[in-house]
Amino acid sequence: MKAIHVRCSFAIFLSLLYVGKLLFAQTTPQRAIAITVDDLPAGAANAMSGSEILDMTSKLLGTLHEQKVPAVGFVNEQKLYKMGEVDDRIKALSLWLDGGFELGNHTFAHTSLNRVTLQAWEEEVIRGETVTRILLAQRKMKLRYLRHPYLDAGRDLQTRREAEAFLTSRGYEVAPVTMDAWDWMYAGVYEDARKRADVALQNQLVNSYLSYTTSVFDYYEKLSRDLFGYEPKQVLLLHGNWLEADHIGELVDLLRKRGYQFVTLEDALSDSAYSVPDDYVGAGTGWLDHWAITRGQPPQNGPVFPQWVIDKSKELHRQPPAATPQ
Ligand SMILES: [Zn+2]
Repeated sequence: MKAIHVRCSFAIFLSLLYVGKLLFAQTTPQRAIAITVDDLPAGAANAMSGSEILDMTSKLLGTLHEQKVPAVGFVNEQKLYKMGEVDDRIKALSLWLDGGFELGNHTFAHTSLNRVTLQAWEEEVIRGETVTRILLAQRKMKLRYLRHPYLDAGRDLQTRREAEAFLTSRGYEVAPVTMDAWDWMYAGVYEDARKRADVALQNQLVNSYLSYTTSVFDYYEKLSRDLFGYEPKQVLLLHGNWLEADHIGELVDLLRKRGYQFVTLEDALSDSAYSVPDDYVGAGTGWLDHWAITRGQPPQNGPVFPQWVIDKSKELHRQPPAATPQ
């Protein structure tokens, strides 16, 4: 009798669990996102030693690996050339590939297609391939993604299309961005607070970053549904910095709670959204904005970036640079 009772309770427990699971599935949408990390080996590479870049990279990739989150990193090879530190900087890129991640090109010197001639920009793309191509070839991989610096994809349609044809001819696919919470703006202030061991400010910045990320996702998920009737697989733009190295785990948790699964960039770009017409030209912005503007429906009332972070960043840049050996 007792055994039957126990079995019955267990069966009820299992069915409750099943109902709970169904409810969770109904309230949490199935979403997918690919992570991309720009400005490698590090956004602030010029102000960092080779060993600090290695520490930062190991920490960032350690969390991504643990959480089984794929990522593509985009390289500015100019940042590799610092006297006596080239090996460490190239090693930081190797850590990406050895960890099973991928690397793409972000031009040699982070050059905007909107600010130089097409020919000069194309040379920047080619110059940015040298080391990355070798590292990829050593692992039987190909350089296949290009991320536009500042997301500047061309100031007029002719330049944009010619640049795209050039990229295709060199075997590239453009890596669009649909989600961007300006982590680079937080990162400069965060890295300064970290150096000064100002924990209170670091926490304040992380909280603000995660809450601004939430506003960005609320806004662009809705814009996605308005444009497509569903939410395409998204592409998130992050940067190589200590803010991400220290806190990307919290960002991953936040996104998982919103129902996101982490997919490769290749998987995300297989979504048909990435082949809808896009005639956007002008100041760099995300691809959801491109599609909305192309359709004649410019997005309105976007999330407002916290002014205090911009002010703190400006304050930092006003300070005279610290004395460093030349
Ligand atoms: Zn960049």
